[in-house]
Amino acid sequence: MSNVAEIFGSKVFNLPTMQARLPKATYESLLRTMQEGTQLDSKAADVVANAMKDWAIENGCTHYTHWFQPMTGVTAEKHDAFIQPTEDGTVINEFSGKELVIGEPDASSFPSGGLRATFEARGYTAWDPTSYAFIKDNSLCIPTTFLSYTGEVLDKKTPLLRSMDAISKEAKRILYCFGKAPARVVSYVGPEQEYFLVDKELWKQRKDLMLTGRTLFGAMPAKGQELEDHYFGQIKERVSSFMKDVDEELWRLGVYNKTKHNEVAPAQHEVAPVFSTTNIATDHNQLTMEVLKKVAERHGLVCLLHEKPYEGINGSGKHNNWSIGTSDGENLLKPGKDPEANTQFLLFLAAVIKAVDDYAEILRLAVATAGNDHRLGANEAPPAIVSIYLGEQLEEVVEHLVSGAESSAAKAAAYLETGVEAMPVIQKDTTDRNRTSPFAFTGNRFEFRMPGSSQSVAGINIVINTIVAEALSQFADKLEGAKDVTSKAMEIVIDTLKKHQRIIFNGNGYSDEWIEEAERRGLPNLRTAVDALPYFVSEKSLSLFEKHNVFTRVETETRTDIMIEDYSKAVHIEMLTMLEMAKQEILPACLEYTSFVVDDVAKKQSIGISVPNEKEKAKRLSSLTEALIERIDALDAIAAKVPENCSVIETAGYYKDYALPAMDRLRKVADTLETMVAKEYWPFPTYTDLLYRI
Ligand code: ADP
Ligand code: MG
Repeated sequence: MSNVAEIFGSKVFNLPTMQARLPKATYESLLRTMQEGTQLDSKAADVVANAMKDWAIENGCTHYTHWFQPMTGVTAEKHDAFIQPTEDGTVINEFSGKELVIGEPDASSFPSGGLRATFEARGYTAWDPTSYAFIKDNSLCIPTTFLSYTGEVLDKKTPLLRSMDAISKEAKRILYCFGKAPARVVSYVGPEQEYFLVDKELWKQRKDLMLTGRTLFGAMPAKGQELEDHYFGQIKERVSSFMKDVDEELWRLGVYNKTKHNEVAPAQHEVAPVFSTTNIATDHNQLTMEVLKKVAERHGLVCLLHEKPYEGINGSGKHNNWSIGTSDGENLLKPGKDPEANTQFLLFLAAVIKAVDDYAEILRLAVATAGNDHRLGANEAPPAIVSIYLGEQLEEVVEHLVSGAESSAAKAAAYLETGVEAMPVIQKDTTDRNRTSPFAFTGNRFEFRMPGSSQSVAGINIVINTIVAEALSQFADKLEGAKDVTSKAMEIVIDTLKKHQRIIFNGNGYSDEWIEEAERRGLPNLRTAVDALPYFVSEKSLSLFEKHNVFTRVETETRTDIMIEDYSKAVHIEMLTMLEMAKQEILPACLEYTSFVVDDVAKKQSIGISVPNEKEKAKRLSSLTEALIERIDALDAIAAKVPENCSVIETAGYYKDYALPAMDRLRKVADTLETMVAKEYWPFPTYTDLLYRI
């Protein structure tokens, strides 16, 4: 492989490339646009576009595309060639400032939640200069926002940028009170991405994996993850060569890919970048998912990003490490040596605690999808109850502040002796890790562990940025004009901690006791997406997003509809896929194998051989196959009665209350049959094949 420093960002129109290719004045005005949000005038835009085009063509591009993030959760692109016909019948390459800044794709086939009638097809894409343009498949990709003809946002990037503005504005108000004036406060994210790999030839034989991303049938393999030998284990050669290609491709695209390892489940892995601004991290995570899938194909593999590809085996999440810092590089969530005396830190910490407690339902719904419902609370993932883990040291600080007890001196640094002379003494971190908490403080950031692996991180960070902005805004209202800022701030901190201490939980979030304890504390436990999603349109939520200019009321309402419809569509497709597999593949296999056993019993009995056990087996196969037919019919009946002409949430409720339980029942009997039917009769690869044949 080439030297990483040399290839890194080679496909990105980044600062060094801009500086080398743009006149000084244009470069400087573009920098201002990127850092301060000032408009770029049309002349400068023409110059930038021309330089971008030359660079792209030198790097083999023939096309350009506005690259945007509609509410499908994946990215969209429409490619236009640079060519412009000339009078003599030849062509020249052209790309104007206008083409760089604005695009007009047809918006009618993207989800809008009814925001836009189908006949109002026009949509606009607008350049986001805060994220660099890059090259993919011989196209110059320009990150853009996506708006309807009437100005409503139709994408995930615009509200994310708005939420970044909101948190910057409110955090700056607080910092001004402390005598600081940074140009901007930025929210940062480092998303850890989990995924599974499966052999493509095996994948092709499973309709469920192909159509829904998860297995709808499958008995547990003899070996699951009980030996815990996969986590951080040696990476198989085929997987390692896949990972190398992923790294190289992402480095070229300027993604700061840093960490890769095997995860807990067999065939499960993780990749994580170095954190960057929420906007860039979101773009890069989308690119990462795309590259994982594309490169997997090249290696005869398929990358599964679904939250729960295999029942009974750990699911995949996306750990969203989030922090805020000033444009001068100060991390506002860094406790320092003596957190108890660090008023500014305590104030920001209190804001996060208050935000998470006040808006737990909204955080929960931001991760509410049909896929994630199978993962949350299923032993290996946080429960559906939102709580915060602070770690021993901060927990102690909170105790002191709330009880008013004398503060103890700052904890002396603790050391670990290895007992081996040549080994270094290890200074312990002040917080241990808590893998069971949905929202854990990890030293200088919070790790939100509920998001699902296939989700765009835009939605969750829109929520985190906005709810923290709201808490900061309430603090700033009290702090501004205070005579003694420090004592007023401490008063706010203590008051907030007293009110919101209930959201802090440092114990085992996977235990049943916690579910009971959380209920005693009055914390919401929204088990399914259908329970959680309606909170998006509660008055509390509508007014929150409106106040911070993140979503208008209409935008919140339409997004809610889209999320609820996505849930119903996902379950609907799964239901039909199950029926097809059960009727066309599983049932015929069971009938055939049963008849083989029945024939064998009959033959033996006809010549006087007594086979009581085999006969029992034949009976059991027959009765399970009968049950299979009965459960297919039951699910068929449910599929035929999906309510129409009712609200989207009623339809989703039908899928949750009727379709999913009937699907479970069908699966149970099919999985039992799988353990009884001979392998050569079973119509598709089993869990053992899928998880171990890589
Ligand atoms: P873990 O041990 O939790 O699996 P990883 O090393 O896999 O940790 O990932 C941690 C992620 O947190 C990385 O993406 C890292 O860049 C990110 N991170 C570190 N510091 C910050 C910060 N201040 N703000 C946001 N993200 C951060
Ligand atoms: Mg990790």
